[in-house]
Amino acid sequence: MSFCIQCGHPATQKKPLGDQKDRAVCDNCGKIHYENPKVICGALVTHEDRVLLCRRAIEPRYGLWTLPAGYMELFETMEQGAARETREEAEAEIQNPELYCMYNIPRIGQIYVLFRAALMGGQFGAGDESIECALFDEKDIPWHELAFPSVERTLRHYFIDRKTNQFPIHLETLGSRLDGTG
Ligand code: ZN
Repeated sequence: MSFCIQCGHPATQKKPLGDQKDRAVCDNCGKIHYENPKVICGALVTHEDRVLLCRRAIEPRYGLWTLPAGYMELFETMEQGAARETREEAEAEIQNPELYCMYNIPRIGQIYVLFRAALMGGQFGAGDESIECALFDEKDIPWHELAFPSVERTLRHYFIDRKTNQFPIHLETLGSRLDGTG
């Protein structure tokens, strides 16, 4: 049983007129509750050939390393979302964000948008959601302790692209694990 976010009455699964799919439709006020993919914005932040990673202090994937990233908020741009997540997770500011990797993860209804960016002033800390943050050389990347497939994909693209200093946008569709974290 689900309830209307507008009036609190029970909502029933049914096909609205002209729709192809069942939606939760309020029995009282008729509000249709659409569910759409969520956008996750993040940044591959670099400084002097090293990449900024954050060790997660939250579930899922507690203790594993990730790029700063998180759900986009209403009323912000994707770049602002990436900058905000970097500020929250790594206490760092980014410069010159450039669109880099986009991942469809249709099975769990997520879209990842990752920017390449420079670390302003080389300064960072560790936000509340991070145990620690650190800059990694390619040879030191903890490949077996990365939190999400999207993180690994992005890092692999980066180290390949860096050899030629060409950074095309990578658009890919990723599979996912059942726990809904990509
Ligand atoms: Zn309602």
